[in-house]
Amino acid sequence: MGAPGSGKGTQAQRLVKQFSIPQISTGDILRKHRSEGTELGKRADAIMAKGLLVDDATMLEIIRDRVTQADAQDGFILDGFPRTQPQAEGLAALMTELGTPLDAVVLFEVGDEELVRRISGRRTCSLCNKVFNIYTAPPSSPATDCVEGSSEHQLFQRKDDEEATVKERLRVYEEKTQPVVSYYSGTGLLRTVSAEGALDEITQRLLAALAEAVAPAPSRAASPKKSSAKKKPASKKVAARKRVVRRAKPKAKTRARAGRRAARKTAAKRVAPKRKAAKRARVPARKVARKSVRRPRRGK
Ligand SMILES: [Zn+2]
Repeated sequence: MGAPGSGKGTQAQRLVKQFSIPQISTGDILRKHRSEGTELGKRADAIMAKGLLVDDATMLEIIRDRVTQADAQDGFILDGFPRTQPQAEGLAALMTELGTPLDAVVLFEVGDEELVRRISGRRTCSLCNKVFNIYTAPPSSPATDCVEGSSEHQLFQRKDDEEATVKERLRVYEEKTQPVVSYYSGTGLLRTVSAEGALDEITQRLLAALAEAVAPAPSRAASPKKSSAKKKPASKKVAARKRVVRRAKPKAKTRARAGRRAARKTAAKRVAPKRKAAKRARVPARKVARKSVRRPRRGK
C-alpha cells in the first residue's frame, strides 16, 4: 500500500526480480479479462456499462483465478488490492481457504510534502511522450532521445499532476485507505516502510521488513531467553515440552500417594505454574508465526 508517488510500483518490480514471483495488479487483470472476453471480463463489462464499480465478489474471483495459476505458487505481490475493509476481509477468507495466508502488508510511508514534490515534478514530452521528473529524473539537455530533429523535449505538466490536484488526490487516498491500514494494523500484518531517500535504501528497508514478517517468531519476543529459544528448531521445543509434561506427571502421582514428601510437593507447586505460564506465553507467538509465514522456497 502507498499513496500515488510513494514508489511502491518500482519497489514491487524489484521484488518480482529478486523472488521470481508475479506482481498481481487487479486493474491489469481486469483489463486483460475484458479484452480477451472471458466470462469474468464480460461480467465486468456489464457492470461497468452501467457506470458501476466492479463488485468485491467479482474482484475476489479475479484474484482467486490469478493466484491459483502456476507462476504464483511460490508467492505473489498484490498491487492495488484490497482498497476497502470488506475487500480485505474477503481476501483474508479467500487466502485462508487456499491455504496461502498473506505474509505481510507493506505500507510505503512518504511525507505529504515529498509526495507533492515527486508528483508535481512530473513532466511529459509532447513530442516523444516520455515522462520525466524535473526533481528526480530530469531530461538531458540537449536531448538525444527525443523525436528526430528535436534537440529539446517539449515538456508539459498533466492537469492530474498539478500541485492543487495532487493535494486533493492525496487527501482522497488517505480517506479511502485509512480503514484498510487500521484493519491490517489490527491483524498484525502491517509493516510500515519509510519510502523516502535513495531507491536502494528503500529496497533494503522493504526486504528487512519482509524478513521480519516471515521470521520464526515475532519481534515481540523481547527477553533474551525468548530470542534464543526462537532459534531452536520447533521439534526441539516440542521435545522439551514433552519432557516437562512427563516429569510433572509422576510427581503429581507421588504427591497424591505420599503426602509426607511435603518439601517436594512445595517445590513442584512452585515450579509447575511457572512452566505453565511460560507455555501459555509461547503458544500465541508460535501460532502467529505459523499462520502468517509462507517462506519462499529455498534456492530462490
Ligand atoms: Zn521528447
